[in-house]
Amino acid sequence: MAGNYSDHNHSRRRRPSKRRRRWQYYIPTVIMMVLAVVCVATVTLAIAAAIRDQQKEPRPDGDHTQDTVIIQGSESTDPSDDVTAPSDAPTNTDVEALIADADFIAAGYDYEKAISMLQSYEHYDEFPELAQKVAEYEAADSNLITYSSPQTITHIFFHSLIVDTDRAFDGDEDSDGYNMYMTTVSEFIAILEEMYERGYVLISPYDMAYEVTDESGTHFTYGDIRIPAGKTPFLMSQDDLNYYSYMIGSGNGKNETPVFVDSKNDGFANRIVVGEDGYPTCEYVDADGNVLYGDYDLVPVLETFIQQHPDFSYHGARAILGVTGYEGVFGYRTKPSYEPALNAMYAAGTYPNTYDEEVAMAKEVAQCLRDHGWVLASHSYGHPAYGNISADRVATDSDKWENTVETIIGETDIILYPHGSDIHTWRNYTFDNAKFAALYADGYRYFFNVDGNTYWNQLGTNYFRGGRRNLDGFRMYHNPDKLADLFDVEDVWDDARPTPVPTVGSGM
Ligand SMILES: [Zn+2]
Repeated sequence: MAGNYSDHNHSRRRRPSKRRRRWQYYIPTVIMMVLAVVCVATVTLAIAAAIRDQQKEPRPDGDHTQDTVIIQGSESTDPSDDVTAPSDAPTNTDVEALIADADFIAAGYDYEKAISMLQSYEHYDEFPELAQKVAEYEAADSNLITYSSPQTITHIFFHSLIVDTDRAFDGDEDSDGYNMYMTTVSEFIAILEEMYERGYVLISPYDMAYEVTDESGTHFTYGDIRIPAGKTPFLMSQDDLNYYSYMIGSGNGKNETPVFVDSKNDGFANRIVVGEDGYPTCEYVDADGNVLYGDYDLVPVLETFIQQHPDFSYHGARAILGVTGYEGVFGYRTKPSYEPALNAMYAAGTYPNTYDEEVAMAKEVAQCLRDHGWVLASHSYGHPAYGNISADRVATDSDKWENTVETIIGETDIILYPHGSDIHTWRNYTFDNAKFAALYADGYRYFFNVDGNTYWNQLGTNYFRGGRRNLDGFRMYHNPDKLADLFDVEDVWDDARPTPVPTVGSGM
């Protein structure tokens, strides 16, 4: 469409010679009129598309429809263009779509943004229903209260979700680990439903706490989370969004040979992809070898849930996603030492992408995740327990992550400690701690360990630290009482789990 439109402009600038005009006088006029109509219509559509696109928010109808693409060249500055001002006649459908988008934002308690969406519409004054909506949002906004005890906010986390319990719990050497450390898709959905029923609202770590500079200097502070009375904010994260070899294929991806999905996988998604609607989704290979796309892990399952329940997400928050580097990210085999083997596979026709293409795809997925509100974090490069290794090794591991993962997914100031292993006791971090000094120097300001308590948050002067709760088979089976504030385990438990859930298994 972009090309067509510029071609029209171009042809409009080309003036026919006088001689040709004499005998073709009427034909160009007719053509010009047709072109003018086409141009006006194109500009009208482009403006409408631009207004919708500006909002950069998911569609409210739950179908994940991708935002309309702005038509390139719709804002021509060429003075020779005859199209000066688009005769933009707004329709009721435009206004209904605008209200629906604003309603979706308002459902996430961001009334300020919803109001500005409506008020910035150029035909705001022509549609009295818009002012009515603004009044409605203002009333709802005045009913919000600032959550009074941010230090009690809980943080839950998951690993990759099990799609096919038959293959995950098939009794092979990984089964016990999956049973202990993983959650099934059906359990995750049931957890979301019950937490939603109980008034939980997902927030971003950047709404929870951040650095400010005021009369007392530069320091971290809890953010004001403005939600209706009775609602409870919480954080969510997912560790190891890498789709490791042991889960998705046969072989050891820890060496220099990348491992890709096959139908003997353990019943997990194998990578994140950008869906046809522009939203991140999952690729999954079922037991029969069919390649499927859809809600096969936390990211798309949570996205679908929030599309259906926008009031479950505060200001569009999504979860924090932590990745390691030792097998690449998001299911893409981007570890640098894979490059020769991967390019050889490409040359031999056994894999469709070169190493560089694999990296480009992972970058595209990272951008897509960020665009849709997901927060990307480090989960270390090699998954060592930071609490148990030397400060030098922490620094080296962190540098390796920066050099091989941050180059793909972009900068982050959040680390989800591998094995939940913190670098310090419960006392505040100080620069005397060489591990903290190294991680701080690498840009980290948010540090999350794993902690069995309902909540554990620490507001340092120059960082925020928090504990996270594993909602996995181990916790649900052995300590259901510790989850009673969130849900009843018997409501969410997947009967496909073998019991008893072991207490010792391979770490993940
Ligand atoms: Zn991990």
